[in-house]
Amino acid sequence: MASAPTTRPVPITVAHGDGIGPEIMAATLHILKEAGAALDIDTIEIGEKVYLRGNTAGIEDSSWESLRRTKVFLKAPITTPQGGGFKSLNVTTRKALGLYANVRPCVSYHPFVKTKHPKMDVVIVRENEEDCYAGIEYRLSTNVVQTLKLISRPGCEKICRYAFEYARRYNRKKVTCFTKDNIMKMTDGLFHKVFDEVGAGYSDIEKEHWIVDIGAAKMADTPEAFDVIVMPNLYGDILSDVAAQIAGSVGLAGSANIGEKCAMFEAIHGSAPRRAGQNLANPSGLLLGAVLMLVHIGQPEIAERVHNAWLKTMEDGVHTYDIFREGVSKEKVGTKEFGEAVVARLGKKPETLNSASYAGRPVDEAPKPVALAPRQESELVGIDAYVEWPSGVPATLASEVVKANGDGLSLTMISNRGVKVWPDGFPETFCTDSFRCRFTADGAATHAQILSLLGRIVGLGFEIVKTEYLRTYGGVPGFSLAQGQ
Ligand code: NAD
Repeated sequence: MASAPTTRPVPITVAHGDGIGPEIMAATLHILKEAGAALDIDTIEIGEKVYLRGNTAGIEDSSWESLRRTKVFLKAPITTPQGGGFKSLNVTTRKALGLYANVRPCVSYHPFVKTKHPKMDVVIVRENEEDCYAGIEYRLSTNVVQTLKLISRPGCEKICRYAFEYARRYNRKKVTCFTKDNIMKMTDGLFHKVFDEVGAGYSDIEKEHWIVDIGAAKMADTPEAFDVIVMPNLYGDILSDVAAQIAGSVGLAGSANIGEKCAMFEAIHGSAPRRAGQNLANPSGLLLGAVLMLVHIGQPEIAERVHNAWLKTMEDGVHTYDIFREGVSKEKVGTKEFGEAVVARLGKKPETLNSASYAGRPVDEAPKPVALAPRQESELVGIDAYVEWPSGVPATLASEVVKANGDGLSLTMISNRGVKVWPDGFPETFCTDSFRCRFTADGAATHAQILSLLGRIVGLGFEIVKTEYLRTYGGVPGFSLAQGQ
């Protein structure tokens, strides 16, 4: 029986999504209602139907109004139609609402759900707005395309601070940072540096950094060595799925997307269209996303009640097809029956698995806004000009483009896909048709010098596809050297 709501209903926006979405949302909302969650639900439509009405974003303007009003979004998975022109609603929502932190607890439920990692309890904190997901891409030549990886100091500061605050709040002992700063010294280097700076303020929490490749291998092999792991967007996207899968199943993990003003809660899996409409899908991921939501909106007692009833259901071997194992599971159930099994266990706690404990937890404090670093003076010292050069022979290109030298600027390096090919390039280096020609000044350069240089390059018959200004900040280059330079 439903217990009486203890607080005033909190407005939330709910989307039932596509594929298995409506079934798992119905089961989730049923459990929340029976557990006594005080929710004032505004239902919006997103996803396939909206896309197919010709809305390329998959969401109507009126739905944004609902999200702006409630600031809390419980979202079922959606199907993004195949073919061009449709934008990812997830990426749009995260960016439009400033949901910079994606939090995914990945826990194993040994011996009740099959896993190779019985002691796994890892929380991935993924940066959600930056990195390669800026979606800024260019074609540089007939054969070469480019994407921009953007990392900002405030972006790093917000996510690293969030990871440490999360660790403190949930009594976690260690925060690990994964980056590839041995290669991307400026972008991932900034992430690592800010992690160290922010971490210095949390003497109660252990800190460590791993290069992402070996860190990922270690996580997949020995996840119990990790606690909270914070990382840039792309690594977090990949590794949070790996973490959820090795814990037991992607069908079991929920996630929170947190911003300064809004938050979105969801399952980590997709709309599984092949399973839709058959009362088969596991609603656990969305339900655990909803548990995170209940803590976020200040109903931690209800969150605890739901989470513990769910853990007891897992323990009792009442499992949907995706985690059902002969000999381990006791009863194979459908989506609806699973929901009823959780409802029947409301008020109970697991006996073997660690029980959840959220009661008495204060409402999450809104993250503090992060200020931009004060502007640092910089000095213009040259320019990289990208040109298409189909012959692919660097020495011939150099002998032509060097003719643009003059007025204090000279050609100092040519690279291809980041590798220096002139001067002193290796004949073995494969060259595409896109070359970067670096012109530098002896000291400072002026815009007028740069513009007239570009004019001379064009005058030699080259098509300049892209330029990057070279600047130093306090004497430190604000650009990388080419590999081999
Ligand atoms: P998927 O997560 O939907 O399915 C992957 C596999 O996991 C399938 O075998 C599926 O049957 C199974 N599965 C997933 N969730 C399950 C559940 N709750 N219970 C039981 N089994 C479950 O991934 P996909 O097939 O790559 O994508 C399908 C659609 O979902 C695509 O249109 C994709 O764009 C979309 N998608 C949406 C989201 C989102 O809205 N957050 C996330 C990922 C993918």
